[in-house]
Amino acid sequence: MSDSSHSDNFDVKLHALRNLYVRDLNSKIDALGVTLEEARRSGQVNDLQLPKQLAHSLASSAQTFGFPEVMRGARLIEQYLCERLALDQGLVQNTSAAWKPAFDALQVLRQATVHKPAPSPVNERSTAFLLTPEHGNPERALLLIEENSHGGRDLSSQFGYLGYQVESIAHGQQQNSCEHFLFQKPRAILIDTDDREPISYQAYLNNLGLPHAADDETPIIFLCNHNHINARLAALRAGGSAFFNKPVDVGVLIDAVDRLTRLTDLPPLRVMIVEDQEHMARFYASVLRQGGFEVRVVLDAMTVLENLEEFEPDLLLIDMYMPYCSGTELAQIIRQQEAFISVPIVYLSAETDVAAKLEAMRLGGDDFISKPVDPSFLISTVRTRTLRHQHIRQHIVRDGLTGLLNHTRFKEQINIEIARARRLQQPLSLAMIDIDHFKHVNDTYGHPAGDRVLRLLSRFLERRLRCTDVCGRFGGEEFGVLLTSADAEQAAKVMDTLREDFSQLEQTAEQQAFHVTFSCGIADLSAATDATQLIRQADRALYRAKHGGRNQVRIATLFND
Ligand code: GH3
Ligand code: MG
Ligand code: MG
Ligand code: MG
Repeated sequence: MSDSSHSDNFDVKLHALRNLYVRDLNSKIDALGVTLEEARRSGQVNDLQLPKQLAHSLASSAQTFGFPEVMRGARLIEQYLCERLALDQGLVQNTSAAWKPAFDALQVLRQATVHKPAPSPVNERSTAFLLTPEHGNPERALLLIEENSHGGRDLSSQFGYLGYQVESIAHGQQQNSCEHFLFQKPRAILIDTDDREPISYQAYLNNLGLPHAADDETPIIFLCNHNHINARLAALRAGGSAFFNKPVDVGVLIDAVDRLTRLTDLPPLRVMIVEDQEHMARFYASVLRQGGFEVRVVLDAMTVLENLEEFEPDLLLIDMYMPYCSGTELAQIIRQQEAFISVPIVYLSAETDVAAKLEAMRLGGDDFISKPVDPSFLISTVRTRTLRHQHIRQHIVRDGLTGLLNHTRFKEQINIEIARARRLQQPLSLAMIDIDHFKHVNDTYGHPAGDRVLRLLSRFLERRLRCTDVCGRFGGEEFGVLLTSADAEQAAKVMDTLREDFSQLEQTAEQQAFHVTFSCGIADLSAATDATQLIRQADRALYRAKHGGRNQVRIATLFND
């Protein structure tokens, strides 16, 4: 290929990427606006993290795609939020002057994008509430390299429905495009080896100029026609992290991608520090933040309970000696709350008396860290304790098959979200989903295929909803989704897009492909006052969706039936 066709190709790709970027710019700005507003409402320092990240990624992507106004505006917000974080202060509620610079910058961003092309109707519906495939998370992009682009397009649209962006590169344009996309750090590289003989896998990769997986963190996944051990061996030696036979089950493939790229996606572990001396608390906080933890400082022990509920820490670091209330008293009070019976509590103390330490442990503590605190010891103690807690918690609250919240935990979450929605005076919707004719799926394709459908639906919901939405498995083939800050109408739009997209997803059993649909009923807080009512109302709407012919979304009304 000549140099000029290299750069032509590159320009075409870049142009296409730029269009995708512009199409989603408004929703990115909206997301930033929403998180800023949430941070303002709560006034919590920790709520600055999300808008800071959004502003940061907006600024850097805007720079990449040549939108200097957007870049400047986003930088301003990011810097401002960084300043607040450095001061350990949230956005201020009443004095608008304190956070107005950020807001003004946001307006600048809006103007900057007014003249850009409007999004397509489908996206307009979905971008406000859904994570669309191009939702500005470049790490999410998968690079798919294949010879015969027809099959690849199918695979990329399947991934697309699951919320992944796929860059698909056909043979012939590979080398320069590969370089371009490797530069963008794909989440994983999928290589369809077509009918190539296993012996040539390594040569094929070398030709593409792909780095050997061992030199790079990006996993390489092979999709092969051969299932012989030779093919697996060749893929392994060529640096492959996983190997799949075609036709590929997208659900299983997605699980592999998630497993291989898991580390980068885990939410940070949360630590709450309860310490009356501000400068000490700051010191611990900065040490732990450097260690990668998300930290909330509580100076007034009397506010611990509210903070616990909101922050849901994976560990509490409690000072032994505080005014009004000792560390051990506080630990006992915390342990009286059902939800916090297992959260690890570590005391900070200058106590040297062994008997006193033992007594403190008996009263609800798990460990001691002596003052003066050694930073690396603090990080390692906190890490071990939090990881173990998170691991245990996963098993208690998650459904084994789908990994979604189980019935009990999901119902608890409904109550928590209702309380939050009331406090923030925001709408909240519950969507109940039931797969259509699922018994028929089991009967026709077998129970394992049915299980795969359940897992694929779970992955699909998790990928496509916002991270503030919560999914749970009610049991069997019934699922629940809590859509925060959405009333029933808005939730119905979101769920209807999901319903349609899910029906397009290809389900696989042995060598057959089939499609599955679901019905959905929605209720919001205008139709209910507590979790039980909300569930009942959504359930009734679901019943109507079933009776209306299935594969549809219905909203609960006060005169439902
Ligand atoms: P409808 O459209 O009215 O909802 O029909 P349906 O067949 O989906 O509903 P029905 O309640 O008659 O059947 C639900 C089926 O779901 C029956 C049960 O065997 C199956 N099921 C429940 N849990 C699981 C599971 O964990 N795995 C699998 N494979 N099937 C399950
Ligand atoms: Mg003290
Ligand atoms: Mg059912
Ligand atoms: Mg069903």
